[in-house]
Amino acid sequence: MPTQVNPATGEEGDTFPALNDDQIEVKLAKSVETFRQWRNTDYQTRTDLLIKIADQFAAQRTTLAAIVTKEMGKPVKQALTEMDKCEKAFRFYAENGPAMLAPTEQKLVSGRSVSHWLPYGPVLAVMPWNYPFWQVVRFMAPTIMAGNVGLLKHASSTPGCAAALEQIVLDAGGPEGLFQNLHISSSKVAGIIADDRIVAVTITGSEFAGQKVAEAAGFNLKKVVLELGGSDPFIVMPSADIEKAATTAVTARLQNAGQSCVCGKRMIVHEDVYDAFMEIFAEGVKTIKIGDPTDEITEMGPLSSEGARDEIAEQLEQAVQQGATKLYGGEIPDKPGAWMTPAILTDIPDDAPIAREEFFGPVAMVFKVKDLDEAIEVANNIPFGLGSSAWTNDESEKERFIRDIEAGMTAINQMLASDPYAPFGGIKRSGHGRELGSHGLHEFMNLKNVMLP
Ligand code: NDP
Repeated sequence: MPTQVNPATGEEGDTFPALNDDQIEVKLAKSVETFRQWRNTDYQTRTDLLIKIADQFAAQRTTLAAIVTKEMGKPVKQALTEMDKCEKAFRFYAENGPAMLAPTEQKLVSGRSVSHWLPYGPVLAVMPWNYPFWQVVRFMAPTIMAGNVGLLKHASSTPGCAAALEQIVLDAGGPEGLFQNLHISSSKVAGIIADDRIVAVTITGSEFAGQKVAEAAGFNLKKVVLELGGSDPFIVMPSADIEKAATTAVTARLQNAGQSCVCGKRMIVHEDVYDAFMEIFAEGVKTIKIGDPTDEITEMGPLSSEGARDEIAEQLEQAVQQGATKLYGGEIPDKPGAWMTPAILTDIPDDAPIAREEFFGPVAMVFKVKDLDEAIEVANNIPFGLGSSAWTNDESEKERFIRDIEAGMTAINQMLASDPYAPFGGIKRSGHGRELGSHGLHEFMNLKNVMLP
């Protein structure tokens, strides 16, 4: 029975009753019934709906952003930006989807073959609370374009966002059953993956949840996309614009109170520019405007829950026990809610386990390195491989970063952020598969090859 808890105040809101087995069965049956019709729609019907959903995001942006702020504490300005990004994703697939689904022809030794992108079926999405609309939309928009139907198991802490996501498709005139929200606990997920009517599953979340979902998908021989954690390097070399790099590093680390999978979590700075970088970076971290997330000027609100905040505080304590220096922050004020000041860790010993962990909150780990090779070595010395950001104006260094950083994404002289136009995803323990761009659209489709004389 998910109940809303406002992380800024600790106050409880509405309760959303969990579905029982009979209600889940009704939703599964509905998804198959709708798929049988939706799979036969033409591209114009699908793109028309995508545009109408985009229009709904534009019309409802303030109301939707307020739910985000209330349920997970995102500053309202950032929540509004999230709604605009959702709108952009629907327009992107409406404009570009049909071309991405064009058949391709191959000449064979004898005859030819034509490959067609066909719909796949009902797909389950297990999603997190940190970008409670955007994470879902990057699955939802391509699902609709592909001719599939979607079922959503959203995070327990964002039930209002989950309900609004189902409703927005109906508000736009989409058919019932095209995108259904399942208010269920995570213990029901494996059973749904096993159901013959579900053809595939995608999850964005922790390694643990990813393992559980992948295990169920593997056992049932179903395709899975995993978007899991990361501890992205943010590398600064001497030829970079240090002021710009250091100012951007503050945003890269503290956006969404540090709760983004592609936050720059480990600042890896060349020794020649370390002091100059730290002067600006530390000042930026200390002066970030922390406050009421409903206030337009707030840059950092509370963490998503008191439990999440306590986990970060515990990790911070472990870091210090393992020999790291806490340069600043990590204070927990004596007031209700999931509040914490951002923190900076330096001098982290090479063998400290914490150096290889993810801080899913506002804690920056800073590493000083002597050259390019050491920067790449530190960058890669983690189990994850999601994103990365490298700051240099030296062309040969750029090439090395692109070639040698073990990650699914590298941003040069900018902060890494997802974009509807570009593929998004990781390697190593950050998962596999891609979202967004044409790759995200093709993940859950049947590439039917037709042999012709
Ligand atoms: P969780 O993995 O606990 O939650 C994510 C989703 O998985 C929720 O819907 C949750 O449901 C569900 N879930 C949890 N356990 C299971 C299970 N055993 N079986 C099936 N589903 C399950 O993540 P957190 O809430 O801790 O979110 C933060 C984590 O997610 C971080 O590690 C972060 O890096 C990662 N993340 C990755 C992103 C990416 O794009 N790669 C983006 C955002 C976050 P319920 O809430 O009911 O438990």
